[in-house]
Amino acid sequence: MMKFLQPLGALLVLLAGVSAKDETYDYIIVGGGTAGTALATRLSQGLPKSKILLIEAGPAAADELRINVPGLRGSILGTSYDWNFTTVPQTSLGGRSIDVNRGKVLGGSSAMNYLCYDRASAPEYDAWRELGNKGWGWDAMIEAMTKSENFTGSDNDRHGFTGPIRNYYNRVVYPVIRLWQPTVSKLGINVNDGNSMGGKPIGVMFQPTNIDETRHTRSYSASSYLPLAGRNLVVKTNTQVAKVNLVKRRGPGSVYQATGVTLSSGEIIAANKEVILSAGSVQSPGLLELSGVGQAAVLKAAGVNQLIDLPGVGENYQDHIRVSNTYRLKEGIDSFDPLIFDSAGANATGELAKWLNGEQSLYEYTTAAYGFMNWQQLGVDSQMKQLARKTFGRSTNPIDAKKLQHLDNPIVPAVEILYEANFVGAFGYTGGKFITLISTVMHPFARGSVHIDSQNPAADNNKPVIDPGYMSNAYDIQALVEAAKFARRIAHTEPMRLAWEIETEPGDEAVQTDEQWADFARKAMGSFYHPVGTCAMLPRGDGGVVDANLRVYGTSNLRVVDNSIIPVIPSAHIQTAAYGIAEIAAAKIIAQA
Ligand SMILES: Cc1cc2nc3c(=O)[nH]c(=O)nc-3n(C[C@H](O)[C@H](O)[C@H](O)COP(=O)(O)OP(=O)(O)OC[C@H]3O[C@@H](n4cnc5c(N)ncnc54)[C@H](O)[C@@H]3O)c2cc1C
Repeated sequence: MMKFLQPLGALLVLLAGVSAKDETYDYIIVGGGTAGTALATRLSQGLPKSKILLIEAGPAAADELRINVPGLRGSILGTSYDWNFTTVPQTSLGGRSIDVNRGKVLGGSSAMNYLCYDRASAPEYDAWRELGNKGWGWDAMIEAMTKSENFTGSDNDRHGFTGPIRNYYNRVVYPVIRLWQPTVSKLGINVNDGNSMGGKPIGVMFQPTNIDETRHTRSYSASSYLPLAGRNLVVKTNTQVAKVNLVKRRGPGSVYQATGVTLSSGEIIAANKEVILSAGSVQSPGLLELSGVGQAAVLKAAGVNQLIDLPGVGENYQDHIRVSNTYRLKEGIDSFDPLIFDSAGANATGELAKWLNGEQSLYEYTTAAYGFMNWQQLGVDSQMKQLARKTFGRSTNPIDAKKLQHLDNPIVPAVEILYEANFVGAFGYTGGKFITLISTVMHPFARGSVHIDSQNPAADNNKPVIDPGYMSNAYDIQALVEAAKFARRIAHTEPMRLAWEIETEPGDEAVQTDEQWADFARKAMGSFYHPVGTCAMLPRGDGGVVDANLRVYGTSNLRVVDNSIIPVIPSAHIQTAAYGIAEIAAAKIIAQA
């Protein structure tokens, strides 16, 4: 069963033999997550003469079934593989704090995510270039995203076939999931099966999932990229970086140079060429702040000496917000619930045994049924545009302006609705079998922040102050309301309507008016785990933290390579973007070496 894990195991054994002395490398990458591990692998391949160090705060977990078995997705949330962050109490949510889960393990959030593998619409990547980032855009990102992809199957879609991250369409699909297209298409939504990965995701469809078809195991950065790395890559796990060491270089421009990193233990490791932060949207900005790069007020409050004044650090936090409608299934209709909520039961243990024996198992199943829609398709186009313009029409912020533009482009989704064959409600599972419709706002206008805690700023305090400002404006609230209302319309349409007996969340009786929906959303809203934008790739004057080469303003050799550089949140799950960003960054660093 563990045979497939050997390549990574062998690499780690090799690394364990590396001496702790002689701690100088050419490139140091901080954060062995989704992007960091992909980047480290590519640098080791492309710069075989360079010594590369990848530092990850969490452990390697190559044998962890809760990571490897696709159907066990979600089971490491809240464990020691999770940083277990939370937001500050959210005013618009009646003071509720929201969980901010992040992978603390080699592979980072790619080890923890739900294996949704998709892409946003082409104009959304082009927006990155239009915001001032030369060389970026759909053409560059699709090339990079497909470089990381290894698709098995046949459809007419845009895929990569030789990259490390394996993906396919689920071979095991519950019959109740098959109701998806026939139901949603009755409401005027186009079927987009096998054609959503090429920049035009609007429609209702099944999408691939990042599973290795040879073993039906999660394919993620640690399992799929890292084994391809050369011996010039050293990986340190269970090692936390406290800050980047910066020194001022005299001369024209007098920028700061990164000379290495200081670990939480106090040990210093030197970098001859570059330091690259890949600690993710929540922690890369904090590491910059602890290194003296950021807003004057934040650094002063935390007692950190400011080296570079960069007000955008930790700002521009954007995330997808979601609510669920849950429906109890009629007697005799099967769902995934027993495999999730009764893991000691015969169904779950039997299916897990099959997976372990290499037989076809229900535990191969992951999220597959999607709908990406614009407001026109939901019948509220002019009302939602008007509301957005009324609220943000006078904003001078370029991100707000881009979101308004996206609303005017019908190929850019405004809403995603996911269809699950199990309970994913907000108020706790109370038994039975369920389907869930998860409604998500693709471009919420809320832009919040994440900063170091002024009372206890050290990196190993692990309590960044996260304030996403969820549902803090009229558009975001109404968008969630309209999406959830449409999800109810879907559930009430045949053939899906024939499968369930009662809506348990929010409940048909309890929630009918828009006010009631909004109240429900305030109580039930969760994050879709997609924070971006906190080290935005933007012109410095627009709040940018990195330039189009992903170099931190005011430095000569410090970059950020992870999802924090995404300036505007895309209408997709964002692991493919993280891999694409890592591929582009690797090509740039290798070319500039
Ligand atoms: C629960 C969950 C479900 C998701 N589901 C999906 C999905 O189905 N599909 C999808 O496309 N996206 C999904 N996402 C989002 C996607 O997985 C992430 O956006 C993406 O993986 C982030 O990649 P990253 O490289 O930016 O950061 P990460 O992968 O989070 O990597 C950051 C790494 O840095 C390490 N680190 C942080 N600080 C330090 C330090 N000081 N020293 C050393 N190491 C440090 C962390 O431990 C981590 O390994 C999900 C995310 C979560 C959390």
